[in-house]
Amino acid sequence: MASFNLLLLPGDGIGPEVMSEVERVIGWLDKNSGSTFETETDLVGGSSYDAHKVSITDAAMEKAQAADAVIFGSVGGPKWDSVPYEVRPEAGLLRLRKDMDLFANLRPAICYPALADGSSLKREIVEGLDILILRELTGGVYFGEPKEIVTLENGEKRAVDTQVYTTHEIERIAAVAFELARTRGNKVTSMEKRNVMRTGVLWNQVVTALHKAEYSDVTLEHMLADAGSMQLVRWPKQFDVIVTDNLFGDMLSDQAAMLTGSLGMLPSASLGAPDPATGKRKALYEPVHGSAPDIAGKGVANPIAMIASLGMSLRYSCDMGEAADLVDGAIADVLNSGTRTADLAAKGHNSVSTTEMGEAIVAAMSKRAG
Ligand code: NAD
Repeated sequence: MASFNLLLLPGDGIGPEVMSEVERVIGWLDKNSGSTFETETDLVGGSSYDAHKVSITDAAMEKAQAADAVIFGSVGGPKWDSVPYEVRPEAGLLRLRKDMDLFANLRPAICYPALADGSSLKREIVEGLDILILRELTGGVYFGEPKEIVTLENGEKRAVDTQVYTTHEIERIAAVAFELARTRGNKVTSMEKRNVMRTGVLWNQVVTALHKAEYSDVTLEHMLADAGSMQLVRWPKQFDVIVTDNLFGDMLSDQAAMLTGSLGMLPSASLGAPDPATGKRKALYEPVHGSAPDIAGKGVANPIAMIASLGMSLRYSCDMGEAADLVDGAIADVLNSGTRTADLAAKGHNSVSTTEMGEAIVAAMSKRAG
């Protein structure tokens, strides 16, 4: 029987509320899935600052490095607006990403038919949408040097950010894209700006060469990132996996996310390199939304993004694709039945609490599992 060790980092604001519903789902899986789960919980973000004066402790980092997956809630809030910059709540998340070298950020954009009318696009464009944006997360223009603002002799200022990519950085993210595509629609669209950027030229060459050498069974297409952003709103269902750099990925993944409606629905995963001995990747799973201080403590937050993030961990860290399908299917069933948290409910319609939504999803899992 497979056994998995998950580190839960609920964080701040609505993080602990939505994480409680993840624990409910883990409890069900532990009893019914044929695999067992051990969980440990620790502090991150403002709650860690309050207890330890740092946004994540070395001890919590060690647990994160050792876990099969880290399940992360959200961090931040006005309470910590004036804490020193190095220990601000977000620094905990940045340290996790950096120390675990999580270079591949996966953002699925799935449109549940029951929510298609909540999209700003027409129903037929988004209904049944299931695409994955893969963003390079640790390189490119956000990290390249020089990165500075200097004052010139004439008193004018000059700002520089540097876009840098090496063969290795491009190869490893492209390999993740091809491998993910093999488990889905078997198609990768690589986006860059090779018409105006040298990094785009190298990106294109490296992706093409890797495809030819190791992944020629996967369909590969190249698209300029600006044309790609247009295609994303024109006919998003043409895509399966989109792979792109840090800057374009930041924008395209937000754009794709909004095709599907509410922020409370969007999961994500960040993966590191496979361990040479075990083949396992370091991994962190988190909802795209933040700590939502405006609704924290009210019991009304939508737990679906958090539960779907756990679903991604089953798929990508636990090799439990069927259990992941069960979680996703249960979410779709609950939405089809008309159950809505306040963020999804139409004006004047009834809504359920965070706990009631979690309970409904677990009940739907039981029903599906027979
Ligand atoms: P937010 O995502 O927290 O909230 C934006 C809006 O969406 C709010 O009105 C909120 O109520 C709503 N919302 C978000 N998640 C929801 C859910 N699950 N259910 C129902 N409604 C939901 O973004 P923000 O307001 O810009 O940021 C609030 C705090 O969160 C800030 O301190 C910010 O720095 C932090 N933040 C953290 C992360 C993270 O932990 N990864 C990400 C983004 C923002």
